[in-house]
Amino acid sequence: MLSGMKFGILGMARSGIAAALKIKNLGGDFFISEHNNSETIKSSLDDGIWNKLQPNCEFGGHTKKVLDCDTLIVSPGIPLHIPIVCEAKNRGIEIISEIELGFRVKAADSKIIAVTGSNGKSTTVSMIHHALVKSGFKSVLAGNIGSSFTAYPIEKKGIDYIILELSSFQLELVDRFHAERAVLLNITPDHLDRYNSFEDYAQAKMNIFNRQTNKDYAILNSDDNNIVRLSKKLLSKKLYFGAESQENHVCYNGEVIVLANSYSTATINKTFGNFALLGLHNIYNTMASLSALKDIIPENEIMDSLKSFQALPHRLEKITAINGVTFINDSKATNTESVKYALSAFNQPIHIILGGFEKGEDYSVLVPFLKLYAVGIYLIGAAAKTIADACKPLLINNNSISMNFCENMSDAVNKAFNNSRSGDIVLLSPGCASFDMYVNYEHRGNEFKKSVKSLHKQVLQAKR
Ligand code: ADP
Repeated sequence: MLSGMKFGILGMARSGIAAALKIKNLGGDFFISEHNNSETIKSSLDDGIWNKLQPNCEFGGHTKKVLDCDTLIVSPGIPLHIPIVCEAKNRGIEIISEIELGFRVKAADSKIIAVTGSNGKSTTVSMIHHALVKSGFKSVLAGNIGSSFTAYPIEKKGIDYIILELSSFQLELVDRFHAERAVLLNITPDHLDRYNSFEDYAQAKMNIFNRQTNKDYAILNSDDNNIVRLSKKLLSKKLYFGAESQENHVCYNGEVIVLANSYSTATINKTFGNFALLGLHNIYNTMASLSALKDIIPENEIMDSLKSFQALPHRLEKITAINGVTFINDSKATNTESVKYALSAFNQPIHIILGGFEKGEDYSVLVPFLKLYAVGIYLIGAAAKTIADACKPLLINNNSISMNFCENMSDAVNKAFNNSRSGDIVLLSPGCASFDMYVNYEHRGNEFKKSVKSLHKQVLQAKR
């Protein structure tokens, strides 16, 4: 399928490796260029894959060798202004993402449901995938979650739906990519360290609709003014969801989710029966999933299947309770918007652990939410001082909230617990990336769980 085609690949992480293996399997040539040294990469790969790829790789920086190609695939973590990418542009080389490659090689009859947004992508794609599998469809969940798009045998027939979680980075370099159904959950400031402006970031997200026609569905959050503004010119059939307009295809009226076509609201109440997800944001994610599956699965079947859907790890995940204090891991909250939703998801006083690697956000937007819901703030990592400065107005004439600088995660967990009463919540919802202290958000969440576990042990021992 790709014979005679030469690909350069920048970046030897998950998607770069998957792309290289797919190109090789389909008869094309590839060359990977990686800025890390070979030992770092080798140690993270299994020997079989390393041996397959290593002869066609360079390490420790990018040389012009990678530009001896027809098409350059750039990994999502690599900014597009670096010299090697600029040189590729000057030479007129086609530059695409691994997502675009996946689209080009997938079997024509596998349909794509793609999801993007600043927050809620992983939860929403997982809900959609869960409902499809429960209803007997052959569905593949890929992209920014689990395995890369090209890691699956997508060139073979037989997959009904490919559910793609797409970040703005992955959407920067798409061209022919076409999703039969594309969901835009929300656009709030994030990754402003990578984009020149909020508008550039929003435009990257809008690329998800690029090739849609009036046969395709655009699923849009009607409560997000930027989405409403930017979606006006789309050719797609629009399905809006949200809380503020009753005109939507799917609407939440504060009590129930209302479906415009059927008004079959009976089973979808605020608490969702035994639905295991917390918070208003998950109602939005559910509305988006219901819209994305319109006419594929009947709504009552979707809601039934969502009853068995579990919160993903590190997203408002309940860990345990110690002496009546509940510990919640929301390590995936890497921006202020998700922290706002986390703070609003509980009715009890919250001790919140905030901080990490800054992404250029203004943390003062958290002040009104902290004022309403928090009784203690515990700061960790590189952003601690920035957050403390932004939250200073909270402390003026206010004895009901404390601000605590912490040395590390276990210090934060212990301090928060010592300041808590039975019924309180200790919430890790850091509002920052994790790279200053941890490998990734999972590592950070696991460290939180470890600290809670060790605290639990101490408390139990003390009781004996
Ligand atoms: P993403 O894949 O976009 O990062 P996740 O589903 O992994 O989204 O959730 C990331 C963080 O955002 C978690 O803290 C989660 O509780 C919160 N979140 C999930 N859905 C939404 C939403 N619709 N709006 C705002 N925050 C959300």
